[in-house]
Amino acid sequence: MTPYVLIVEDETSISTLLDYNLKHEGFETALAEDGDTALLMAAERVPDLILLDWMLPKLSGVEVCRRLRRKEATANIPIIMLSARGEEDDRVTGLDIGADDYLTKPFSMPELLARIRALLRRTQTNALSESLTVGALQINTKAHRVSRAGKDIHLGPTEFRLLEHFMRRPTQVFSREQLLDAVWGHDIYVEARTVDVHIGRLRKALKMPDRTDPIRTVRSAGYALQPKG
Ligand code: CA
Repeated sequence: MTPYVLIVEDETSISTLLDYNLKHEGFETALAEDGDTALLMAAERVPDLILLDWMLPKLSGVEVCRRLRRKEATANIPIIMLSARGEEDDRVTGLDIGADDYLTKPFSMPELLARIRALLRRTQTNALSESLTVGALQINTKAHRVSRAGKDIHLGPTEFRLLEHFMRRPTQVFSREQLLDAVWGHDIYVEARTVDVHIGRLRKALKMPDRTDPIRTVRSAGYALQPKG
């Protein structure tokens, strides 16, 4: 799994440098030159991490960060803020509004890469592991086994991939289109309604003894796995 990093930076010299170095480290990257574009891109395809410049035209980096955090689908994206400012206040503001880390320009590339890796390690243990636990649910992707509170559950292959996708990013809301891309693949034409059918089957299979539903429907947004499930 190649981590996908969205670089939000209006200074081309810096974004080019970041882009080059991240690609060289094996990351997949995309560039946004202003805040509005960044928000659109993040909503379209949720990045594994965002490098966010503080001083941007129109929407500031701080405002972009706030808006990302307010929306459920983007609320949990790891964010590193980059800033030419260095005052302690800015650092505090940056972390206050929900950035995970903060780096002052000029920064050294090895340091930035180390911070990116550290942050991804923190947030992506789940994204890489073959055995995942979320609440009472456990999945082993290698053995292809699912259990709830220690009891095996049998799932069809599509339901299995759906559940795996949810469990790698618990609480994150996925739209039908995102689920189609992740579970069925970009190249296959499947109707969005198909997602609902398989979500329905997954729900039925996962139903808790107390009838609580581990999958949450988020109106007009999509579906998410509830951690308690
Ligand atoms: Ca800037």
